[in-house]
Amino acid sequence: MVKQNNDLIKAMKDYAEENNVPIMSDEGISFLTNYITKNKIKRILEIGTAIAYSSIMMAYTDDDVEVTTIERDEKRFLEAIKNVKKAELEDRINLIYNDALEVKIEGDYDLIFIDAAKAQNIKFFEKFKDNLIPGGVIITDNMKFHGLVDKKEEEIESRNLRQLVRKIKEYKNFLDTNKEFDTTFKDIGDGLAISIDKKN
Ligand code: SAH
Ligand code: MG
Repeated sequence: MVKQNNDLIKAMKDYAEENNVPIMSDEGISFLTNYITKNKIKRILEIGTAIAYSSIMMAYTDDDVEVTTIERDEKRFLEAIKNVKKAELEDRINLIYNDALEVKIEGDYDLIFIDAAKAQNIKFFEKFKDNLIPGGVIITDNMKFHGLVDKKEEEIESRNLRQLVRKIKEYKNFLDTNKEFDTTFKDIGDGLAISIDKKN
């Protein structure tokens, strides 16, 4: 069984805090990893690696879990490489340095985890659902966007933030009305959407 490097986990959390890297909350990551274990998920595609904190936590769930993950920010990508090495997970975590909307991904995944630019969620979903096995699941993070999604528009001062919140609501509506997927929303961490492909 995989041995978790707890010093590394702590160091990644500290780094994220100090450098404002928005990694998943403890509550969010614990739901996600339990979900992976319970549903025997083995092949994962992640959009938004940051420093590979969630990639490593997902890979730790079992020895035969494989993660492919995409990051477009160079500084974070380089940090991710270091962390994956320290975790000794180079053989199970495949790091891709690119814009997720530009890169072509081959292969089928049991789980697609979308945790990148919130305004692009519909595009990520539409693009990567073709990489999902029949009956697979797409999980999206930050559906609450730090509580802003539940606020009245006029309470949000920044125009950019208002626009982003509007995009997240559009995405929520897109999921609610999607005929190929059944979506449930979880009030966990920063809000998760669990979308299960209806094909089986
Ligand atoms: N999943 C990580 C956190 C990801 S933060 C964790 O929980 O540990 C979101 C990341 O997505 C950022 O590092 C950002 O650079 C990246 N990102 C945003 N849009 C992207 C895109 N179009 N392609 C690739 N990466 C993207
Ligand atoms: Mg997130």
